[in-house]
Amino acid sequence: MSNSRKHCLNNVEALLSKAQEAERRNTEEALELSKEALVLSEEYGYQEQIAKSHMRIGRCYWINSDFFQAINHLGQSLELATKIEDYVTQAEALIGLGNVYITMEFTDQALNNYHTALKIVQEKALDEQESKLLNNLGTLHEDLQDYHQALDYYQKSYLKACSHEDEYGKAIANLNIGNVYLNLNQLDLSLENIQKAYQHAIENNQTLLLAHSYYSFGQYYQKTEDYSKSIQKLKLGIVSAEESKDFYILVRSYVELANAYDNHKNTTEARLHFEKAYDLAKQMNSVEFMPRVHEQLARFYERHDLKEKAYTHYKAYFDSSKIVQENRRNERIKNIEFQTKLNTAIQETETYRVLSKELEKNFRQMQVLSDIGRSMTATHDLSDIFNQLYENINKLMHVDTLVLGFHNQEKKRLDFDLYIEESVRQESFSLDLENRKSLSVYSFLNRETIKMNDVREEYKKYIQGVASSRGDLMLSAMFAPLVVEEVTIGIVSIQAKQRNTYTETHKVLLETLASYLAIAIKNARDTIELARLNKRLKSLSEQDGLTGIPNRRLFDEMYSHLWSHSEEKKQPLSLLIIDIDDFKDFNDTYGHLTGDEVIINVAHFLRDNKHENHFLARYGGDEFVIILPNTYLDDAHQYAQRLKDLIVEMKHIESINGAVRVSIGLATVEPHPTLHRDDFFDFTDQQLYESKKKGKNAVTARHYNRQ
Ligand code: GH3
Ligand code: MG
Repeated sequence: MSNSRKHCLNNVEALLSKAQEAERRNTEEALELSKEALVLSEEYGYQEQIAKSHMRIGRCYWINSDFFQAINHLGQSLELATKIEDYVTQAEALIGLGNVYITMEFTDQALNNYHTALKIVQEKALDEQESKLLNNLGTLHEDLQDYHQALDYYQKSYLKACSHEDEYGKAIANLNIGNVYLNLNQLDLSLENIQKAYQHAIENNQTLLLAHSYYSFGQYYQKTEDYSKSIQKLKLGIVSAEESKDFYILVRSYVELANAYDNHKNTTEARLHFEKAYDLAKQMNSVEFMPRVHEQLARFYERHDLKEKAYTHYKAYFDSSKIVQENRRNERIKNIEFQTKLNTAIQETETYRVLSKELEKNFRQMQVLSDIGRSMTATHDLSDIFNQLYENINKLMHVDTLVLGFHNQEKKRLDFDLYIEESVRQESFSLDLENRKSLSVYSFLNRETIKMNDVREEYKKYIQGVASSRGDLMLSAMFAPLVVEEVTIGIVSIQAKQRNTYTETHKVLLETLASYLAIAIKNARDTIELARLNKRLKSLSEQDGLTGIPNRRLFDEMYSHLWSHSEEKKQPLSLLIIDIDDFKDFNDTYGHLTGDEVIINVAHFLRDNKHENHFLARYGGDEFVIILPNTYLDDAHQYAQRLKDLIVEMKHIESINGAVRVSIGLATVEPHPTLHRDDFFDFTDQQLYESKKKGKNAVTARHYNRQ
């Protein structure tokens, strides 16, 4: 700490102790000093002093009956003191709040605060504060007219003050004990104690204590019916009260003095002092105090038969009481809010912050993890999955090498298809499941996650020796099995050159990642498998079962496709319909199986003799079709003729006599939106019919025009 800072801190401390001292004789001054201390400590960021200043300011406001400000500052003090674990200020603030609540007659709230404070001061052995607190608990019980309990607390407080030689604390206890004895009608004991307090106040120039002592004397002498002595003491009390600027005791002193005059049959003075009390209370703008003053005034006027005045004050008494009730209700609500806020503040102590930092880090990791998981499982492409994994894993932990191995069931080995070392994809390799020197194999076979932070030391726990390493030796390594639906499908391993790279959290992260990865891989594999199956199903459904050439379904598809294509390209399209002549005879003569053989032979013959761009299909029965895209009638005709002639020379099926012959219908069209392909097909079929009519083994060819 620099000298100037130290100097400044000393200043703040000096201001605060001056304020504490001033609080006992002049609240205004104490308030000024503690406000100054607050400004300075805020400027320099002295947390402890900020808390202390708020506490002192709060106490001053309480003495001045500005309860709203009092609670506000004491609350801030408590919040900060709790946070920085300054127990003295924490206890002082709680005591201060308790005092405010007592004055406001919120007994339960006051008790709450006092008991919390008591726990702290006893735990931390804060004698001075404990003495103060016991004193305040006494006051609380005194207000509840539980005088014996009050006396007990005050006496305990006195002993505590004695034990740490707190003369002021002792004097306060004396005064309070004196007041209780007065209420218990033990007048000698009362006077004795009040006198002790008075003595201390006089000797130490403590005007506030002095004002209170005079007030107690005033009450004592009224009880002994020595009214002139009471008046004398109360008048002195008023001087002290004015000096200490404690308006609360001032108003009470006026009221008590007025009563003394009244008892002394001096109605004029009595009335004068009641009015003074009333004006002062109004001037203080203390809503809390007004009902008491009105009540006293109403009683006084009633006693003196001033019914009109009495009535006015009774009415004012009820009205102001209502305001007080309303205020109390609001204060209660505020207090609940404050308690909630305080709880949050307490939870935010250092340990909590450390914990929440850790939680936050974990949470961020979880987010990255689930992002990776989502992107990996979103794709069904294995290489995409690998890329996602490799690109993102470094967000979670340091990785120099990433290895993925898949179980090859057939060959009983692990195939390492993905092996990346320092951003470079390495050649694939395989490891036999018999290999006892592989950590990957160990992790796979035992379905166990392994984490090592010095491979040279730790490998022995798992394997008999290290398999010859590829590339640099990685000293930190983790291996996790890829398990999906109870089946281990492979392993994932991440490695780093440095020792001690991975923590237990990293291990958990890898395990989670492995689960995502396994699902992603399974999905991808299922997709590939499904695609393969689909393709197979599709080709099966489009193939003619007997001949293996496309069937009519595929023909329909291709015909439609080629028609549109030709139309688009404005190219001619030729179509051949080929029908075996007298096929029934084969069936009839040689049986159905031989008939089948004929069909197969013709199909294969046509397939072997078609051009690359032709499309051949079995249309049904003994009928075949060939589409000739971009082919004019002449060329198609020549081709058809050749087919017809060659078929006769086709290698004969051994079991039949004679040749197989066919009839062909041929037509050519330039597809156009005004034409329909079904009409063109029928037209071609008519040409086939023509060939049959002509005596079979013939070709009929015609150009198709719009009819
Ligand atoms: P045409 O010269 O007028 O064509 O006379 P055809 O005897 O060939 O008569 P058509 O083409 O009308 O008859 C075809 C016959 O082919 C009818 C049917 O019994 C037979 N058939 C259809 N599909 C098969 C098949 O897959 N195998 C066998 N063996 N016969 C079939
Ligand atoms: Mg036929």
